[in-house]
Amino acid sequence: MKIKNSLIKPFLTEGRIKTRKNEYTGYLDLLIENDKIAEHAMPGQFVMVRGWDSNDPVFSRPFDIVQVNPAKGLFRLIIKIAGKGTAMLNSLRAGSRLLITGPLGNPVEVPHGEKIILLVRGAGAAAVVYLAESAKKAGTEVFTFLSASTRNRLVCRDYLKDASNDINIITDDGSDGYHGDARDILEGFINKSKPDRIYTCGSKRFARFTGELEKKGLTKGYVFLESYMACGMGDCHGCAVKKRGSGGYFLVCKDGPVFPVNSVELD
Ligand SMILES: Cc1cc2nc3c(=O)[nH]c(=O)nc-3n(C[C@H](O)[C@H](O)[C@H](O)COP(=O)(O)OP(=O)(O)OC[C@H]3O[C@@H](n4cnc5c(N)ncnc54)[C@H](O)[C@@H]3O)c2cc1C
Repeated sequence: MKIKNSLIKPFLTEGRIKTRKNEYTGYLDLLIENDKIAEHAMPGQFVMVRGWDSNDPVFSRPFDIVQVNPAKGLFRLIIKIAGKGTAMLNSLRAGSRLLITGPLGNPVEVPHGEKIILLVRGAGAAAVVYLAESAKKAGTEVFTFLSASTRNRLVCRDYLKDASNDINIITDDGSDGYHGDARDILEGFINKSKPDRIYTCGSKRFARFTGELEKKGLTKGYVFLESYMACGMGDCHGCAVKKRGSGGYFLVCKDGPVFPVNSVELD
């Protein structure tokens, strides 16, 4: 019997960059060779990655597992170039070695035969591709709302298009799709389509909105959180987020990274 993934201890393992591309401005798309992650990672999980031998930066960096191909031993990451660690990853060529810890975090339960909405912005799109692919395969209807400042930052657009029954594009500058805020078109869509769940990532504004929708009884909401973290395994407590109401904290790495949206304080 195959061991249930969430019980598997994370691997400390080496990977190699198979291909790399910079299709979207400010983002790196890495296809990585590593059998263990490709075979065991589940939707919602992430890896800690480093591509440098020095102690600067000291800590590996966390990234969502975007896609897996167990048959070929490959998995994909989408990385926004934010600072030193991601700039160093962006400087690596195909064939370069990476040190990877994972899969980390709790898998998100894949909805079967339901209707779901994905509401994502910027790098947050990376978090939901694997969930969308798995949910669609499980007979769930997937409706995606992908938002970005401008069209060449609509990261994961093609992956999400393939994994969704329908995709809505929203840009702040009107260079593609709906010109404005995704929230303007979403509430009407929800009232009509009555989805079972909505998953959001990449925008606190969207997360708060999702929380409001749930409070109105329109759908259940979930948020993928991406707090700072040094270890990814519950030791550093860098990723603590406040629980709503009851006091205390969740650790994004151990208790998440996906949470019922109204269970956490979204400051
Ligand atoms: C579970 C998890 C999954 C993630 N998945 C992805 C992903 O799939 N793709 C992706 O592009 N990014 C993802 N991130 C965020 C990514 O890890 C950070 O952007 C990255 O660590 C920045 O490293 P750096 O050394 O380049 O930047 P640093 O030099 O450390 O920082 C550069 C700038 O980015 C800010 N910053 C760094 N980390 C974060 C963070 N977690 N949240 C908000 N601001 C931050 C800093 O304040 C600073 O202004 C994820 C984070 C978590 C916790």
